[in-house]
Amino acid sequence: MGILSHSRKIHTETLFLGLLLVFDLLGISVIVFHPAVVGTFKPDFNSQAPMAELKKIIFPVGPIQANCCIIYDSLAKSGIIIDTGGDVEKIYAAVKKEGLTITGIYYTHAHIDHIDVTGMLQAKLRGVPIRCHQQDKFIYDMAQMQINLLGIPVPTPINIPPIASYFNEGDVIPVGSFNARVIHTPGHSPGSVCFHFPDQKLLIAGDTLFRGSYGRTDLWGGSEETLRQSITQKLFTLPPETRVVPGHGPETTIAFERANNPISD
Ligand SMILES: [Zn+2]
Ligand SMILES: [Zn+2]
Repeated sequence: MGILSHSRKIHTETLFLGLLLVFDLLGISVIVFHPAVVGTFKPDFNSQAPMAELKKIIFPVGPIQANCCIIYDSLAKSGIIIDTGGDVEKIYAAVKKEGLTITGIYYTHAHIDHIDVTGMLQAKLRGVPIRCHQQDKFIYDMAQMQINLLGIPVPTPINIPPIASYFNEGDVIPVGSFNARVIHTPGHSPGSVCFHFPDQKLLIAGDTLFRGSYGRTDLWGGSEETLRQSITQKLFTLPPETRVVPGHGPETTIAFERANNPISD
């Protein structure tokens, strides 16, 4: 009888703990009344679980030193590459070193210094989809002409694979368990976009915005007035602490550019 009674007690406590676990998973705190303990009981079953982090590897590539951005989920080891303007082996080595699965190669815009080695990189990454904004398609299609006109010393003939699909304003881009939002910022080129990670307060800006400067507007479909509107209305309205990775040069913040960028003059 004593043994039976004891095992029932264990069973009851196991059930009770099981219920507490269910409540905890539902995010409900449970008040436990006990002769010795009265308080909030919220068992921390997940304290040892690793947390996913959005990580970025940024380095300049190619003869014009455009920033290549590898953005990834540290837990899922899944990521995207933004702008591939040269040094294919360097980009591929960074992907392999981190053991990443790349789900897409995305362009901030289609100028040659941001797209140069796409064909070679796509082949190494088993045909991952390539995306840009549709309004830069005509610039993408004239890649060889860009090389000839701008006199950029890159290997030719250039291998530019087909675009899988186009970005639209507001598109959500998954990066592992994180999300970026596409902001269409025409001006430097008609189809320039920025990638905004609102939760991480991070912006990949391409050649729309630089530290203390902004992109040139004398190339195909460029417009200074359109660029000013894109920057002041769509970027300067982001949280001031947002970190900005430009298409060339060092990082900056929205707060610094609002105070210092000559586009506001
Ligand atoms: Zn550009
Ligand atoms: Zn550029």
